[in-house]
Amino acid sequence: ESSQKYGPLVGALDEGTSSARFLVFSSKTSEIVASHQIETHSIYPQEGWVEQDPKFILKVVTECINCAVESLKEKDLSVSDIVAIGITNQRETTVAWDLITGEPLHNAIIWLDVRTAETVERLLDQVPGKDKNHWKKLCGLPMSPYFSAVKIRWLIDNVKSVQQAVREKRCCFGTIDSWLIWNLTGGKNGGLHMTDVSNASRTMLMNLDSLQWDPQLCRFFNIPMEVLPKIFSSSEIYAPVSDGPLQGIPISGCLGDQHAALVGQMCFKRGQAKSTYGTGCFLLYNTESAKIESSHGLITTVAYQLGKNTPAVYALEGSAAVAGAALRWLRDNIQLLGDISETETIADSVVSTDDLYFVPAFSGLYAPYWQPDARGVICGITEDTTQNHIVRAALEAICFQTRDILEAMSKDCKTPLMKLQVDGGMTVNNLLMQLQADLLGITVMRPQMAETTSLGAAIAAGCAKGIDVWNVSDIPQVPCDEFKPRTTQEERDARYSRWKMAVDRCMGWNV
Ligand code: ADP
Repeated sequence: ESSQKYGPLVGALDEGTSSARFLVFSSKTSEIVASHQIETHSIYPQEGWVEQDPKFILKVVTECINCAVESLKEKDLSVSDIVAIGITNQRETTVAWDLITGEPLHNAIIWLDVRTAETVERLLDQVPGKDKNHWKKLCGLPMSPYFSAVKIRWLIDNVKSVQQAVREKRCCFGTIDSWLIWNLTGGKNGGLHMTDVSNASRTMLMNLDSLQWDPQLCRFFNIPMEVLPKIFSSSEIYAPVSDGPLQGIPISGCLGDQHAALVGQMCFKRGQAKSTYGTGCFLLYNTESAKIESSHGLITTVAYQLGKNTPAVYALEGSAAVAGAALRWLRDNIQLLGDISETETIADSVVSTDDLYFVPAFSGLYAPYWQPDARGVICGITEDTTQNHIVRAALEAICFQTRDILEAMSKDCKTPLMKLQVDGGMTVNNLLMQLQADLLGITVMRPQMAETTSLGAAIAAGCAKGIDVWNVSDIPQVPCDEFKPRTTQEERDARYSRWKMAVDRCMGWNV
C-alpha cells in the first residue's frame, strides 16, 4: 500500500562539509520517506589547514545508508522500491588514493584549506603579468587555493606516497563524489573512477567547452591526465552499487552540492538563482547555454548536464567562504553562544547593530574580491557594544556578502534579480531571512522542504535515461515562505556603503 502511495523511490547521498546524510524521496510526491544524518568533523593540523579523513567519510556515509534503510523498513517500504541513487557532495575537496590497495594516500584536503597559497604564488609566476584570471577563458575560474588542481599539485609536490603512486600509475585523484562512487561501486575490485561535469568544473582542469580534461591546463599544473577520473554527465546510469543494502541499485546522478541545490530549487531557466547558506554561502545564477565571462569577480561554472546527449547548462557563481562558519566561530572560539540556534533570539534582542560591522574574512575573501591575504575585522565598536550587537553583525555579514555577489551579478548580466530562492542549514533562522530581504531589497523565498540539495541529486538520478521516474519539466515546485523587504533604498545603500568601508579594512592583512 505504501509502495503505491509513494511510487518508485529515489535515494540521495549528500556528503557536505559539516554532515553527511542519506535521504529517500518518493518520485510521486517528492516527499522524504526516510533519512539519516550524521555530523562530521574536520581536522586542523596547522593554521589554514583543513582536512577530513576519507575513511571516516566512508564510514559515516555507510552508517547513514544503513540507518535510512532501516527506517524505510519500519514504514513498510522496501529497499527494492529504490530505483536509483544520486550523489551530491562538498566540492573541490580533494582525495588521493591507491588504486591497488584502496587506501587513501593522505587526508582529504577540504575546500576551505589555504595551505596552497604559496603553490598559487609559484604558479602565478609562470603566467604573464601574474594574472589570476589567466586561465579563466578555458576553465571559468581564477587561480586560487580553493580549486582542486592546486590541491592536487600540493599533494604531488609534498607527499612521498602520492609521488610514488603517481610514478607507479596506481594513484587516483578525485573530489568526494569520485571517492564515494569508486568505493560504492566496488573500490579496489573494479570501482568506477569517475566524476560529473559539475564537480569537474571546479577543478580548474576541465575545459568549459569540451567538458573534458584540458591538455593545456593539465600540462600547466603538471598533472598527468591518467590520475584523473573519467568525466560523465550529471544524469545517466554510471554503475550499480556493489554491496551492502543498496546492492544492485544504479547510481545515476551526480552533482556538486551547490549545483544540486540549483536543480532542487528548480532553477532551470536563465535568470533564476539560488543562494545556499551553510558553512559558506554560494549563489548560483542560471545562464543556460551562455558561458558568461564575469568582469566583476564571479566565476563561470557548469551548472549541470542532465543526460549524456543533452547540452550542458552554465551558471555564474559567487561565493563567500564564511557564512555559518562565523556562527560556529562565535560559539566555539569566542564562547558567545551555547548553541547556534540562540543566534536568532540574541540578535533580535537589539534593534540594530548600532553601526557595528563584522567581516569574517578568516582565511581571505572569495567573490568578488578574491583576496587570500584579507583577514577578519570587527569595526565600529563603542562603549555601548554588547555581544548581542556582535551576533547580529555576524548575521548581517552573511547578508552583506550576498549583496556583494548580487551587485556583481547584475553588472555582469544586466538584469537585476527580482527574488532570491534560498536554502541550506542557516535558513531556519527567520531573522537572518528577514535581514537578507531588508539588506537586498528583494523578496527572499525559502522552500518549506529544506532538503533541496538532496532533492536535486535525487532528481538528477531519477530523470536519467533508463530510470525515467521523473521528468524535469513536470516536477511540482516546492511551496515557499516569503520574506519581503521592509527598508527603503536609501537605508539599504547607506548600510551597504558602511559595509564596504569595513571590507576595505580587511585587505592586505596577512602579508
Ligand atoms: P554544510 O552543507 O556546509 O555542511 P548545512 O547546510 O548543514 O552546511 O548548514 C550548517 C550551518 O548552518 C552551520 O555552519 C551552522 O552554523 C548553521 N546553522 C545551523 N542552525 C542555525 C540557526 N538556527 N541559525 C543560523 N545558522 C544556523
